[in-house]
Amino acid sequence: MASNWLITGASRGLGREFVRQLRARGDQVVATVRREQDAEPLRAAGARVELLDVTDDGAVAALAQRLEGESFDVLLNNAGVMGHGRSLDEIDLADVSRCFEVNAVAPLRVTRAFLPHLRHGSQRLVLQMTSRMGSIADNTSGGSYAYRASKTALNMLGRSLSIDLAPEGFRCVLLHPGWVQTDMGGSAAPLTVEASVSGLLRVIDGLGPDDNGAFFDFQGEPIPW
Ligand code: NDP
Repeated sequence: MASNWLITGASRGLGREFVRQLRARGDQVVATVRREQDAEPLRAAGARVELLDVTDDGAVAALAQRLEGESFDVLLNNAGVMGHGRSLDEIDLADVSRCFEVNAVAPLRVTRAFLPHLRHGSQRLVLQMTSRMGSIADNTSGGSYAYRASKTALNMLGRSLSIDLAPEGFRCVLLHPGWVQTDMGGSAAPLTVEASVSGLLRVIDGLGPDDNGAFFDFQGEPIPW
C-alpha cells in the first residue's frame, strides 16, 4: 500500500534519493528544502515541495498550520549537518550548538509540530536519520564532538518519543544509513546513495510493532546505544 511521507532536507544526498525511490514506487511525498532553486528536480520526480529551514520555529509552525487537515503516514527527519572541526583543538563551541540545533532540537520540533498530521495517517511511523557516530558504545575513535554528541542526543530524543507515543500506536525508529557518498559522507565512502536508501526502505518496510524504539543500520542490523 502506498504511503504518504514528509521528508526534511531533501535538496541533495540521502533525502533527495529517498524522494526519487519513493516516487518511483508510487508513494506520495512532501519534501522540504531550504531554497526554491533545489525544488525543481524533486517536483520533476512528482514530489510536492515546501520550503523549510528546520531550525526556524516560526516556519515549522507555519507549515504545520498550512498543512492542517492533511495526513502523513511517515515522517522522516533527515536534515542534518556534520559540523566543522573533528579534533578538540579545532572545535568551535558555536558550531557545537548549531549541530545540536539542526541534528537534535529540530527533529523534536518537527516531530511535535506534525503529530496531528501523523495521527491522521495510517502508519504513525516517525523515523530519525541518526548515525552510528552517535552510539556511545561504538565510539572507539573519539573526535567529531559536535556531530557525535548531537546524534547521541537525537537517539535519546527518539527513544523517549518511542515510549511516550507508544500508547497511541506510534513507532519511532532511529536509522543509520551506513557511510554514504554524499556531500557529508564524501567520495571515499563505500556506499552509494542508491544502495543506502534501497537498504533503508527494505528495513522500514519490514518494521514491526516490536521495533518501536529500535536503532538499526541500513541492513537491519541493530546498533548498540
Ligand atoms: P548532505 O550534507 O548531503 O545533505 C544534508 C541535507 O540536510 C541537505 O538537504 C541540507 O539542505 C539539509 N539541511 C541542513 N541543515 C538544514 C536546515 N537547517 N534546515 C533544513 N534542511 C537542512 O547529507 P546526507 O544526505 O549525507 O545526510 C542526510 C542525513 O543522514 C543526515 O542527518 C546525516 O547526519 C545522516 N547520515 C549521513 C551519513 C553519510 O555517510 N552520508 C552517515 C550517517 C548519517 P541544504 O542543501 O539546504 O544545505
